[in-house]
Amino acid sequence: MRKKELIQYKTPFYCYDLELLSQTLDEAQTHAKKHDYHIHYALKANTNVRILNLIQSKGFGADCVSGNEVKKAIETGFTSNQIAFAGVGKSDEEILIGLENDIFTFNCESVEEIEVINELASQQNKVANIALRLNPNVDAKTHKYITTGLEENKFGINSWELEGLIEKLPSLTHIKVTGLHFHIGSQITSMTPFKNLCIRVNELNHWFLERGIRLEHLNLGGGLGIDYQSPTENPIPDFELFFGIFNQFLEPRPNQEIHFELGRSLVANCGSLISKVLYVKKGIKTNFAILDAGMTELIRPALYQASHSIENITSESTKLEFYDVVGPICESSDCFGKKIELKETKRGDYIKIYSTGAYGEVMTSGYNLREQNPVVYL
Ligand SMILES: *Cc1c(COP(=O)(O)O)cnc(C)c1O
Repeated sequence: MRKKELIQYKTPFYCYDLELLSQTLDEAQTHAKKHDYHIHYALKANTNVRILNLIQSKGFGADCVSGNEVKKAIETGFTSNQIAFAGVGKSDEEILIGLENDIFTFNCESVEEIEVINELASQQNKVANIALRLNPNVDAKTHKYITTGLEENKFGINSWELEGLIEKLPSLTHIKVTGLHFHIGSQITSMTPFKNLCIRVNELNHWFLERGIRLEHLNLGGGLGIDYQSPTENPIPDFELFFGIFNQFLEPRPNQEIHFELGRSLVANCGSLISKVLYVKKGIKTNFAILDAGMTELIRPALYQASHSIENITSESTKLEFYDVVGPICESSDCFGKKIELKETKRGDYIKIYSTGAYGEVMTSGYNLREQNPVVYL
């Protein structure tokens, strides 16, 4: 976008490239379908309506982590038998939303939760399909806040609880265990953790079969990372490689369906955050480019020490300089990047922060009573 076009929009604003999204979705589906894999889109990454509509129209299922996400998925047109509902802390009210809609599965994270679902389903005269979210104790080798598959994490049922659970199952007459579920973390860029996951899933799948429990599906979760450093060179993740790893190492039983729940890898690169420079301030070691966007619009750098590619898209200078690119919020963590090389930057220049389509707009907060400006679509 040129400056002429940019000035018609109020900054900061999120901008989505729906054409890139469409290409990314097609690429993911093409490679998943080769192996008969099903993809559920993890709504929590981005619940923008136009994005959801496009994803729904391309035949994805939905992966939800709250009752409202289940409702949103249904409103968007995802069918209930395409909806998985995960989360360590589902409230009774949220479980009832899932039951009412006869969703594909509740991905259950504790024995206590399974007992509650059984009880609520019995009151509704229903049998709930559940998948057991197991903690595979596989290190995703990603940031600790988005690592979820280790025994020290709060997620999933640990292996030492399984025997006891299996003994209890016959008395839980209003649930049916239809599958196993795993999700080891997010922004995983090496294929090794996924290979290790496959090996662990094979063992667990076998363990259940030995005990006479037939599982209709295995759900391997999401977590595929994107290239935050070079988003323009690598706009679309390598889905062929990703699904290929599972095809190579996973040993499903005949007729066992394989499901995935991808969020970030589908939507991250189609989004950017466009912001204007309010002030350029000389610091001791570096200059500060102070933007009108802050951690209230994009919290990933403050929360996960994430780094996004940043560009001055309107400067016509040929000089490059280093800047600490910061927001206006009164927190030192309100910083998008230190020592970022930009074209010489002045008040009024437009700054583009790349790859903000996942966990960006959805995490916007009203802190400081900040305004939310309308989204722009390309
Ligand atoms: C967040 C989440 C996902 C999606 O993760 P991405 O890294 O965005 O692909 C999938 N499944 C579960 C259970 C999740 O919590």
